Formats: sequence, C-alpha cells, structure tokens
Amino acid sequence: MSQNSSLKSLYKLSPAERLQKLADYANLSEAELMALNVGLSTEQANAMIENVVGRYVLPLGLATNFLINGQELVVPMVVEESSIVAGVSYAAKLIRAGGGFKTSSSDPIMIGQVQLLDISDLDKAVEQLKVAEGDLLAAANQHHPTIQKLGGGAKGIEYRLLPNTAAGPMLIVHILYDCRDAMGANAVNTAAEGIAPLIEQITGGRVNLRILSNLTDQRTAKVECLIPIEQLAKGDVSGAQVAQFVFEAWALADADPYRAATHNKGVMNGIDAVAIATGNDWRAIEAGAHAYAARKGRYSSLTTWSIVTKANTSTHLRGALDMPLSVGTVGGATKAHPTARVAMKILGHPNARTLAEIMVAVGLAQNLAAIRALATEGIQQGHMRLHARQVALSVGAQGAKVQEIANKLVAEGTIRAERARELVGLVKQT
Ligand code: NAD
Repeated sequence: MSQNSSLKSLYKLSPAERLQKLADYANLSEAELMALNVGLSTEQANAMIENVVGRYVLPLGLATNFLINGQELVVPMVVEESSIVAGVSYAAKLIRAGGGFKTSSSDPIMIGQVQLLDISDLDKAVEQLKVAEGDLLAAANQHHPTIQKLGGGAKGIEYRLLPNTAAGPMLIVHILYDCRDAMGANAVNTAAEGIAPLIEQITGGRVNLRILSNLTDQRTAKVECLIPIEQLAKGDVSGAQVAQFVFEAWALADADPYRAATHNKGVMNGIDAVAIATGNDWRAIEAGAHAYAARKGRYSSLTTWSIVTKANTSTHLRGALDMPLSVGTVGGATKAHPTARVAMKILGHPNARTLAEIMVAVGLAQNLAAIRALATEGIQQGHMRLHARQVALSVGAQGAKVQEIANKLVAEGTIRAERARELVGLVKQT
C-alpha cells in the first residue's frame, strides 16, 4: 500500500464511514466489505470444527500509522478489549517519528519432535542415526511435495538426549522443517510420522510421540525502533522523563516474572489480535512466546527498552523485540475464513515471513503503548473511558445512549454495571 497509513481522524468517523475509507485505501470490493461484517457462514463454520451450532462475532478494528521498513501499513485487529487498537495506533505514530519499525526474520524453520524410548545407549543411537541422515531426510520429505517444490521441506536433524526423565532415558530427534508460507503444523506432524518407522528400524528403539514443537525458536521475527525522546513528552512531563519511566518499567519486567507476565500479555494483546484477524493459530503463537520468554531459565520480558545517545545525534528511546512466530498465509483458516482473506488484502498480501514481521512490530508498539500509559497517567484513566462503553452495552444501552451513559459514568467516576443499569432505567423513564 503506498497511501499514508494514518487514515486521518478515523476515530471520529462512524463504522460505515470508516469502511468507506478502508475500501478506498485497500481497494476493497463490495463482497470484501461484506466479508468484514458478515464473516463466516454457518456452513463454513461447520466445515471447520465439530458440533457447530453458530458463529461468534468479535470486533474488527484498524490500527493506523504503521511504517514498517519504509512501507505504510494499516493493520486489521480482532480483539474484544478496549484501548488496544487506540493504544497501538498512538504508539505507531510515535515510532514513525523516528523512522518507523525495522524488521527482519529467520527462515520459517519449524521443529518436529520424535520421542524415542527403550534405548540402552543414547550416544550409540545418535551415531547410528547420524550415519543415516540422508535417508531420514528423504523419509521426512516423502509427503508435501508442494512445500519442497517451493524450496522448503526437511533441512536438518538435531538430537536431544534426555537421560533422566520420569519415564527413564529417551532420545528426542528434531526434524528441522522449512514450512515456507504455511504455519506448518500438519506438514511437520506428517514429516515426524513419516520418519518414525525408520528411526525405530535403525536404533531398535520404540517411538511414542511424533509432533511439532510450539517452541519455534528457529522461526523468529525481530523488530527494532528508535524514538526521538522529545516525541514522548506528555503534558508537564518531559520526553526524557517519560523515556526514563518506560526504561524503569521495562527493567522491572526484565527482573521479575510477576511483572514480566503482564508485560508480555501486553505484547500479545497486539500479536494475538492480528493472528485472529488473519486466521492464524494464536494458541500456538502464545505457547511459543511464553516458552521463549523463559529460555534463559527464568521467565522474563520479551521486549527490551533502553535510552541511547550517539555522538552528534539526539537521544532516543530504543525498543526491540525478537520472538518465535509460527504464522502462515496458506493453510489452516487463513484462506478458509472470508474475513481473514480480506485482512490479508488490507495487509498487502504478505508472505508468512512478512506477516510475522508485521506482528512483531504490532507487539512492540502495543508494549510501548501500555508501559508509556502506565508510567505516565496510569492505564486506568484512558482504559476506563473506553471500558465505560462496554459497561453501558452490557446493561442493555443502545444507539447514542451507549456513549451518553458512558460519558456520565466517566464524569461520575463510577464505571460500574449497577450505576449503568440505573442510568439505563432513568433514560427509559424520560
Ligand atoms: P495445512 O495442513 O493446510 O498445510 C499447508 C499446505 O499448503 C501445505 O501442505 C502445502 O501443500 C500447501 N501450500 C501451498 N502453497 C504453499 C506455500 N507457499 N508454502 C507452504 N505451503 C504451501 O496447514 P499447516 O500450516 O500445515 O497447519 C496449520 C494448522 O494446523 C493450523 O490450523 C493449526 O491450528 C493446526 N495445528 C496446530 C498444532 C500446534 O500448533 N501444536 C497441532 C496440530 C494442528
């Protein structure tokens, strides 16, 4: 997309006006606009999971202001929590003032695990398997010719010796599998199943599990941003002070798992919302993210924030995030869900690596939005203003009354359902 991604004053428009603005931005057809609102049919849903009785609708919003590697981008997000879309759009605006996000990613290498038991000498089994690696890779590659034709497929084998598990010694064979644009769970599981009989034959052991690992630490995406600190000024608080507050907030997450869990939840607020919008498996991404956050033996922050001053330049707040991201642009629900297909069009039809890079950019911006708000006004003030609308909705307010009641709740400083219910009652009486 070459157009500017700020979509000026989007928040002031009605949903219908926003849709028109989006249609112009992403060149969407009537059918595509319809898909954003209607989503799945019951028939399509019935083909996806078991025992379907209906569909469940969530809000789809647009995050604005993204500039990633020089490309303008509006990011569709599906999430039920207020403040996330507004927060990330604001943070992306701050980040673009410093040149935007710089991203990169690894090859899309997933890990398939084969669990081998009943082995008396683990080292000997590894030696036997190493001799036969060519045959093992061929066995792993016998299915999924499409992925191989595209340059993917099984690329290597690694071994993990676990001599002291609760069930005795075991050897774990890792197949390193390049999934190209697929998330790859099915492809990797098939490869792990394909290789298992040969592993048993070579070693004389017994295979139990054959399944991918969601700790996809060989399939990662990275992002970095540099924000001129004067951009961070807020009211009476200088940019340098805000940068220091953000740094201190990050230092707590870096040192303390209790804070890190919430800090990383903020990162995932953004990443999950893009994963859902694009039909990706957010549980897989969550599992990988939190396992990765504990990779050094203690659960810690996924992001890093620091204040950097280089000779002859002004001071910047630097943010960085690298994490596993197993996302696909083919397979799973990505192509089966009509709204996900439109979300992919809004994103300019990225391949899987680019989509992962977009997601880490969103995660980093979301993290900045949360810790900046926490470190300055406190998150509640802004959050509760938006939350008030949800409270009004939850007690049955409709149309313009939703905002009216929300405003009253905020003005009174009691954003609670009981009071909202009273206000709805009063409105009905008048
Ligand atoms: P999939 O089974 O639909 O496979 C993708 C297929 O797309 C490939 O086999 C290939 O033939 C084809 N393809 C066409 N163009 C391609 C390209 N450019 N790059 C790569 N492949 C291309 O999907 P998948 O990605 O193997 O599996 C994803 C699904 O598996 C998700 O729905 C996920 O929820 C689910 N799943 C997850 C787990 C887990 O995370 N632990 C376990 C099991 C299943």
